[in-house]
Amino acid sequence: MFLSLTSRIAAVGALVVIALLALVASLVDASRQSRESFRWVTHSAQVIEAMEETMAGLRDAESGQRGYVLTQNPGYAQSFDRRVADSLQSFSELVELTRDNPAQKARVQSFGSLLSERVELMRQPLELARQGRFDEAEAAIVGGRGLDSMGQVLLASQEFLGEERRLQMDRIEAAERRLEWGKRLALIGGPLIALFSLSVSVMVIRGIRRPVRVITRAMTSLGSGDLDQRITDRMGSREFNRLAQGYNQMADRLATASDDQRRSERELKQVHHELLSSSQVLRQRGEVIELLGGMAHRMQAARTEAELAQVIHAFVPRVLPGLPGVLYAYNNSRNLLVPISTWGDHEGDGDAFGPDQCWALRRGQSHFVSEPGTDIVCDHVGDKDHAYHCEPLLASGEVIGVLHLDGVLDVESGFRIKVLVENIASAMVNQQLQRDLKEQTIRDPLTGLFNRRYMEEALALEVARSARSGSPLCVVMCDVDHFKRFNDEFGHDAGDLVLQAVAAELGHRFRDGDIVCRYGGEEFTIIAPGTTPEALLQRIETVRQAIAGISLRHRNQALGSTSMSFGVASWRPGMDREGRAALQAADAALYRAKKEGRNRAVLHVEEAA
Ligand code: GH3
Ligand code: MG
Ligand code: MG
Repeated sequence: MFLSLTSRIAAVGALVVIALLALVASLVDASRQSRESFRWVTHSAQVIEAMEETMAGLRDAESGQRGYVLTQNPGYAQSFDRRVADSLQSFSELVELTRDNPAQKARVQSFGSLLSERVELMRQPLELARQGRFDEAEAAIVGGRGLDSMGQVLLASQEFLGEERRLQMDRIEAAERRLEWGKRLALIGGPLIALFSLSVSVMVIRGIRRPVRVITRAMTSLGSGDLDQRITDRMGSREFNRLAQGYNQMADRLATASDDQRRSERELKQVHHELLSSSQVLRQRGEVIELLGGMAHRMQAARTEAELAQVIHAFVPRVLPGLPGVLYAYNNSRNLLVPISTWGDHEGDGDAFGPDQCWALRRGQSHFVSEPGTDIVCDHVGDKDHAYHCEPLLASGEVIGVLHLDGVLDVESGFRIKVLVENIASAMVNQQLQRDLKEQTIRDPLTGLFNRRYMEEALALEVARSARSGSPLCVVMCDVDHFKRFNDEFGHDAGDLVLQAVAAELGHRFRDGDIVCRYGGEEFTIIAPGTTPEALLQRIETVRQAIAGISLRHRNQALGSTSMSFGVASWRPGMDREGRAALQAADAALYRAKKEGRNRAVLHVEEAA
């Protein structure tokens, strides 16, 4: 019923008020009773006083009677009458005062009878005296019953007074008892109520202080970050129980909110971290793409395979740091993979190997061994105990080479190598195309020999070199004898066949450094640096014999014998730098060879100036 603190405080307050009211009521009652008792004491005093005055009046009346009888002084008679009236007056007051007490009332009545009798007895001698019969009056006094009557009145009066005094004493005692009771009530009831109020206050204060302390402690812990702090919801009062429940709910919500916040922070950090790392990856990718762009640009601009190799050598270690390796490409015959470029501390230059010795080439896709023994090792790999990676170079679906790396590729390197091999393959294809294009511009399509334009450029270069080094330089002009006859007799195709056969002989019978060109029609030019005309003539002789030995058939027809005439001349200092004079000299010697019967070689002789 008194679960709530408020109702408890209200109940206690009501109890205290009731106790105080009861105390006050008791005190008021005690005071009223005391006052009543004192009133009765006073009443008794009035009764005694009335009795005493009655008796005093009676005695004075007796004295007046005797005085008049003895002295015959009428003043005494008057005094008698006055005092009898006073005494009767006091008696009637006494009758009035004792009306409420039956015992005393009865006594007063019997006393009244004796009093009346006494007054009547005293009046008889006085009447005799007033009639002048003083002696009879005196004898009546002396011999009458006056003395007995007075004795009875006195006895009744004393009995009445004794009883009234006892009553007065009882009433005084009762009044004192009531006063004492009131005093005790005030002395005990007041402190008792004060003690009760104090102990109840202490209990209430304790009932408030304990839960307040518990909640304050929990709040302080919560404030300092301990979100697990909870308190019991049995605090001893409904208000504090609700406060505790409220606190626990708040702490639960705070803990949940804090958990949510921590989770959000973690997720945010994760996202931030991912963003950071992905932005780092993106930045690195950007740098690599820029690097690859620069590399691709240089590779496209490379004019020779050596330049291409230099670019690869310089850039691959930057694109794939910490991964030494070799780039292999097919040779012209496409039967071997030859090393084009190496980088890092790759051991050796890498030996050429056959296409079937590499699993990447055989399968047309990456082949790698991350840990020795986990996959088959390519034959071309020298060190079989180390991890490596082979990446084929593909162009239009065709394998054109392989990139070999020592070590294991991570994800980022895996991304880079794909772009890298694409760039390198594209550059290699591009260079091949350029080479082919260049070949087309400097080669004669029918015979495959250099054309006249290339010959003129090469001659100017060789002249410059000879002029610089002083080494000899010879030029040869040669022409198929009676070539027109092949065309005329067997057709133009037969003529082409003869030209190709002759060109083939010329192409491989001269030295490596000699430049064999088709000058035009069935005329050819050979630039032979570093050789003397005499030595050259010997070689021309073998060539001439080989050409003379050519025997061709066209459409089942023998084309007959072929022969060739040669004119040889040297470039000499003083001649023009383009080599035109030397060519003319060789042409002049050729003309002489034709003239002297063909199928021969003639050395140009300087005519004496
Ligand atoms: P000579 O012994 O004096 O050199 O006599 P020749 O017949 O060889 O000389 P000529 O200059 O009279 O004939 C050359 C002929 O070669 C003329 C031309 O029709 C022919 N000719 C030029 N170019 C070609 C070619 O590319 N193919 C063929 N089939 N014939 C060609
Ligand atoms: Mg000719
Ligand atoms: Mg000719």
